Formats: sequence, C-alpha cells, structure tokens
Amino acid sequence: MCPKRARNQEPGSRGADVKRLSVLGSTGSIGAQTLDIVRLFPDRFDVRALTAGTNADLLIAQAREFLPECVVMGDAGRLKQVKQALEPLGIRVLAGREGLCEAAALDGVNTVVAALVGFAGLESVIAAVRAGKKVALANKETLVVAGQLVTHLLKAHKGTVVPVDSEHSAIFQCLAGEPANSVESLILTASGGPFRTRPAETFRDITKEEALAHPNWSMGTKITIDSATMMNKGLEVVEARWLFDIPANRISILVHPQSVVHSFVAFADGSAKAQLGLPDMRVPIQYALSYPERWPAPHERLDWSGTMHLHFEPPDRVKFPCLDLAYQALEAGGAAPAILNAANEQAVDLFLEEKIRFTDIPDTIDHALGSMPVQEHPKLEDLIACDAEARRVVQEHVRAIPI
Ligand code: NAD
Ligand code: MG
Repeated sequence: MCPKRARNQEPGSRGADVKRLSVLGSTGSIGAQTLDIVRLFPDRFDVRALTAGTNADLLIAQAREFLPECVVMGDAGRLKQVKQALEPLGIRVLAGREGLCEAAALDGVNTVVAALVGFAGLESVIAAVRAGKKVALANKETLVVAGQLVTHLLKAHKGTVVPVDSEHSAIFQCLAGEPANSVESLILTASGGPFRTRPAETFRDITKEEALAHPNWSMGTKITIDSATMMNKGLEVVEARWLFDIPANRISILVHPQSVVHSFVAFADGSAKAQLGLPDMRVPIQYALSYPERWPAPHERLDWSGTMHLHFEPPDRVKFPCLDLAYQALEAGGAAPAILNAANEQAVDLFLEEKIRFTDIPDTIDHALGSMPVQEHPKLEDLIACDAEARRVVQEHVRAIPI
C-alpha cells in the first residue's frame, strides 16, 4: 500500500534549490533514465508530474514510487486503469495533449524534462517555455521542427534550455566559459550506426531487426532507426544550429564508432575541445539537471590506464543520404526542416510496419521535401498543418512504391 502524497512534498516545503520536476515521457528510455538519476539523488528532486504515451503499468509503478501531484496518460483506452490505480493516492490523472501541456506548465515545477519522442513533444515544450520553466531537452525534433519559433519564445520568456542529447551536452560543456565569438565550428561525432561497414548494395535488404540492433546505445525504436539511417545525425545538426546559434556551414559530422568522444568544438585560435565519457545517457541527463553544478556520481568511468584507440572517419554521404537531406532542409529554412522531420517520422513508422524498405526512407523524405511548398516564417499552427500534410504526402507516395 502506498501512502497518499505526503504534505512535506508540497511545493516550496523543501530547499529552494530542489529540482521540482515534470518528466514528460517518463516511461521511455530517456524518461526512465531520468528517474534513475532522481533515485541517485532523492534529496535533490521532487517529481511533480509524470507522463506516458501507452505504458499504463509502468506509469502506475513510477507514480506509486515517486508520488507526483499529477500524471498524464496519452492513450485514452488506458485512462480508466490509471485513474483507478492512482486517484485513491491523491494523484490527479490527466489525459491527452492538453494534459501534457498542463504537466509542462505546472505551478511549482521549475524543471521540465522533455523526453517525448517526435513531433508529439513540440507543444509541451512550447508550453514549458511559455511558463518560464527550465527545459532539459531530449526531444530533438522540437528544435528541428520549430527551432526559429522556440528560439524566439526563449528570448521573449527569458527561458533556459539545457541539452540532454549527448553530442549537444558535450558541446554545451565545451562552450562553458568561452566567448561566443571565439567558436569556429562544431564537430558532431556519430557512431555510424549498425551499417557503417555494410556494403551499400545490400541496404535494400536491411530488415527491421537489423536496423534495431544499435552497436553502442540502447534507445527508443524511433531514434534507433534514425541512427541506422544516420538521419539522427542530420536532425542533430539542425538541433545544434538552433541551440548554439551557429550556421550549418560551420557544423560538421565525424564518424567515431566507439562513441567515447561525444563531440568537439573548434576555436578561432586553432585549439579544439572535446568531451569524453562512456556511452551512458545518464551522464548528460544528470548534467542537464545539475547544471551549472556537477554532482559526484558512481557512473562507470573510462579506463585511463590502458591502451585506448579512438577511430575517426568522415561519414559516407552516398550510403547515408539522410545527412544531405537534413543539411538541404536546414539551408532551405522556414518550414523545410518540419517537412523533413514529419516525412522521416512517417517513413520510419512505415519501415517498422514493414510497409517500405530501408532505402525507401531517404527517397520518401526527398520526395516530400521536393514536392511541398516551404513557408518562410511558420507559426505553431502552420507547423502543425505542415506536419500533417507531409505525412499525407508520404502516405500517398508510398502507395505508389512497389514492394
Ligand atoms: P522512447 O520511445 O523510449 O520514449 C518516448 C516517450 O514518449 C515514452 O514515454 C512514450 O510513451 C512517450 N510518447 C511517445 N509518443 C507520445 C504521444 N503521442 N503522446 C504522449 N506520449 C508519447 O524514446 P527515447 O529514446 O526516450 O527518446 C526520447 C527523445 O529523446 C527523442 O526525441 C530522442 O531523439 C531523444 N534522445 C534519446 C536518446 C536515447 O538514448 N534514448 C539519446 C538522445 C536523444
Ligand atoms: Mg545524440
């Protein structure tokens, strides 16, 4: 039997520096690892909201453990189960997109962990920014789709975004204390995914199971497929452009199969900095939450006593056309990255449903980018319409592809 939400967990009743969290997407890979960090530092956190898309059982278990003020269940079919389990504990159960935005802007919350996957995360991040929360941003698609809009809102609301994505966390750490005008370029490292050395002529036959077997990272399915096509790195270039206000021609990609160097920053004086660590997302998640502090933690260390071989090579842009598609969309500007993102999300879903081939993913995105007009300064409602239209264009295009 769980106790009802205890009185000493009311907002403001613990130290002023307590991180009062809303964890959006708490049942996913990043969300669950965020809660691992909370377990490591129970006195530093108060979890006030948790949200799930479909996994009601895990959401209920997390809520029983952390006793938030509210939870949000995305899947309407599971709402009753969650209400029956949690309302007797005094936990409010909210639903759907509106519930997510409410959890993102909840009174008393000071830090929102944005760990939904895909376009579905956009509105809640905007709600958090508008409510002046600090956002620990894992949901890279938000900045891909709406980088211009979110940057504008951040300025207007004096908001803060701290990156969770390991490459952007690395860059953020390398930039600490450096004057903005001293940065020459950003170099994002990429593992190269499971098909780095696989011959291009066999790419047509890549199965879903092969694409889901990432060599270094255990992640949600969508980002795992994005890593296999290398669209993940393309999305990260767009994310970096907005996070660090650096034009695309000063952001490059370097394949580094060990995933130990998480990215580099090159400076105007010829010096470069890198951030290193084992591939463990709990480290950048913790940094996003502890920033500007660093908290001692028992995460596994690199072994500095032995021989270490770090390998780097340029990406193969012919084998991985998603990289150039992302740069093209970024250069086109306006709503083009939103088209890129929606077409990619739709194509990844269709590949996971085994309705298209691996090699159809970039072809389909290319088709969407080439056939849709690009709005220059889209508002949120324009981006929502553009997302829906790009998905429709992809569906229609795919119907014409012979399997
Ligand atoms: P995931 O699929 O494991 O989890 C996604 C979470 O969002 C789940 O809680 C899911 O229930 C929820 N969700 C999905 N669609 C929803 C909807 N329509 N409504 C409500 N909730 C919904 O994904 P993940 O791997 O944790 O990735 C989350 C984000 O972090 C992605 O944008 C990804 O690119 C980014 N990221 C992930 C990693 C990683 O190691 N997993 C690393 C870097 C960046
Ligand atoms: Mg990354």
